[in-house]
Amino acid sequence: MAEPFPPLPPGSTIGILGGGQLGRMLAMAAARLGYRTHVYSPEPDPPAGHVATRTTIAGFDDAEALATFGRSIDVATFEFENVALDGFAALAAAAPIRPAPAVLAVAQDRAREKSFLNRIGVATAPWAPIAHREEAEATVAEVGFPCVLKTARWGYDGKGQAVLHGPEDLAPALDRLAAGRALPPLIVEAFVPFVREVSVLIARDARGNTASFDVVENRHKGGILDLSIAPARIAPETAAAARAAALRVAEAFDLVGLLCLELFVLADGSVLANEIAPRPHNSGHWTIEACAVSQFEQQVRAIAGLPLGDPSRHSDALMRNLIGEAILAFPRLLATPGLIPHHYGKGEVRAGRKMGHVTRLFPLGGLPDEAGIAAAFPDFAP
Ligand code: AMP
Repeated sequence: MAEPFPPLPPGSTIGILGGGQLGRMLAMAAARLGYRTHVYSPEPDPPAGHVATRTTIAGFDDAEALATFGRSIDVATFEFENVALDGFAALAAAAPIRPAPAVLAVAQDRAREKSFLNRIGVATAPWAPIAHREEAEATVAEVGFPCVLKTARWGYDGKGQAVLHGPEDLAPALDRLAAGRALPPLIVEAFVPFVREVSVLIARDARGNTASFDVVENRHKGGILDLSIAPARIAPETAAAARAAALRVAEAFDLVGLLCLELFVLADGSVLANEIAPRPHNSGHWTIEACAVSQFEQQVRAIAGLPLGDPSRHSDALMRNLIGEAILAFPRLLATPGLIPHHYGKGEVRAGRKMGHVTRLFPLGGLPDEAGIAAAFPDFAP
């Protein structure tokens, strides 16, 4: 069990590894609770740096920069799990890291993640690791078709994945995933005929208190989250199973912080876990407006030793991402009553880049039907 620690006094500095929009919203939540933030980002001009007290631009493999960063902060956390852990010893010697790097090590590797989930009794799709090209054919045949090949590491937003419908799809998929280099470690998992995708965000403090938000339903387009519907339109037993799985993960990690568990819902109402993100998640942005305490504030509270907030939902909500050129609709969104647009301040508009999001609230129990959901946001086409 993690050692409980005294609350971080106001004015203390929270170090955030990663400088994207999640770090930006985390820094804004930290500021509201009286904390300073120091963002550490390998990318120049990180969106989180626009709202942080300080910014360091350096690589995650730069042990000296991480040590210096560590000495300037009171606690470190992260907004991005695809961080090489090599330099973390230098950081850990200077400041506590919450959640613990061991959590990152599991969450950033799909093979470790699925083994961990299965070991603690959380069901996933049947899966198997593929370490070498020579074993791919037999392993894939064992899992059966259709199935999904995924790189074990560094994948996000559907990158590093290939769906295989039959044996003939294997060789081209391996070529694509290898991209001219040696084949990276992969996993293959059965294709899940899900009826919905959902996620659960849960915070846990060092005393073992937990608070989870209502289960949210997610729809993806081109591998990227497009729409979140809160609450998910699922049976209470399904919601309870999803929350129980997230609780089990948080407890098994002895988590101090916040994590998101993504799950598939099957036609019979059962759930299979897909992925763990030990940080705030895109599918939790609705909590900023629909709950008294957002996912970002909850993460700050957990890592700062403050009491966790009440995660209950006071409104239903829809959240849509503004991807790429959709951000050009921002002036129109601002002028549309009932919309709550967020701009991440990213300079360059690129296809597939998360540029902002927009939330719409509804009274509790008042989510519209499918036609209403489709009509809830104006066309984002520029
Ligand atoms: P992931 O990167 O694992 O979160 O996958 C991105 C998206 O691909 C998921 O949100 C699903 O929509 C889809 N996907 C991933 N794995 C599977 C699977 N085993 N079966 C069906 N769809 C999948």
